[in-house]
Amino acid sequence: MVAVTVEKLEKVFPPNVYALKDVNVSIKDGEFLVVLGPSGSGKTTFIRCIAGLETPTRGRILFGDVPIVDVEKGVNVPPAKRNVGMVFQNWALYPHMKVFDNIAFPLKIKKVPKEEIKKRVKEVAEALGISELLDRYPRQLSGGQQQRVAIARALVKEPQVLLMDEPFSNLDARLRISAREFVKSLQRKLKVTTILVTHDQHDAYALADRLMIINNGVVQQIGTADEILNNPANVFVAQFFGDPPINILEGEGRGDYVDLGDLKIPVKAPPGRLQVGIRPTDVYIAERPMAPGDVELQPARVVLVEYLGFTPVAVIKWEKSEMRAIAYDKVKEGSIVKVFLRKDNVKLFKDS
Ligand code: ADP
Ligand code: MG
Repeated sequence: MVAVTVEKLEKVFPPNVYALKDVNVSIKDGEFLVVLGPSGSGKTTFIRCIAGLETPTRGRILFGDVPIVDVEKGVNVPPAKRNVGMVFQNWALYPHMKVFDNIAFPLKIKKVPKEEIKKRVKEVAEALGISELLDRYPRQLSGGQQQRVAIARALVKEPQVLLMDEPFSNLDARLRISAREFVKSLQRKLKVTTILVTHDQHDAYALADRLMIINNGVVQQIGTADEILNNPANVFVAQFFGDPPINILEGEGRGDYVDLGDLKIPVKAPPGRLQVGIRPTDVYIAERPMAPGDVELQPARVVLVEYLGFTPVAVIKWEKSEMRAIAYDKVKEGSIVKVFLRKDNVKLFKDS
């Protein structure tokens, strides 16, 4: 397998859509990188540049020490010579070919001998648990089975790098979870350097060794899920990654606290306009603090109780400020409640 280095990558679509701006990332040999961003953020363009299906406007990409594209030096290795496996968003199986021939296709193109093709298709089909499906056509398969065929086709030529573009988007919620587990354990077993792009933070959280969060073609942050949750680089990242969604409030730094007007958040804060990020899991309704160091805020009124998953989360309100808070005690809408804050987990962002 191989490490992937992306340097100063830029892609402009005419007339002037900047799909990628100055993207820099190093993916270690055998690492699982998830690229996470909203629709239109440049994820597909990024992965297509690595596959060679898109030619960047600037920058370079290396597999190990070998540049596969270097715009300045005019290097551009064609897709077939890059030895990458690609799983497309819609899986792109050939409908008129049986599963066997779908999987065998990349090997036929490479003119691998017939016997060798048979052997390799069998092996990969076994690894993916689809051996009994080789004689079927794609339309005779479930969504999950089609996805495995698409992955088998990407893996059969033993790629140096596996690329997956939203591979779970055609699966229903339950299949999605088992498909995630499957992809993760397969990647661990094969140790193939993998880049998966998704708009789904749950996919990202479940799969990534590291995440690269992207917005409008610009990398916002690269790190492990925990690093990003604990230390989001900016408000966009804080809001895009984290479940339940973080509370963001506007305030004024006053040295020892942040002034929200009707509410004081007791954390050290430089003077000036700030945005305060508080995860609902870091602010809670209870009779007393759950941990030493947690501080009590002014009492709040419960506006609404909702459930995020199976966890009761209350919308609580002071005079003006409002946030979502975990409700450890049963609370009634309209009641006044005690609120505690894990103040070490409060995030502050310079207002921009
Ligand atoms: P994502 O996969 O994150 O949804 P894309 O990489 O598909 O984002 O697109 C990034 C941006 O580039 C979008 O603004 C999109 O409209 C634009 N774009 C993508 N492909 C093309 C193209 N072939 N021609 C012009 N604009 C494109
Ligand atoms: Mg896309």
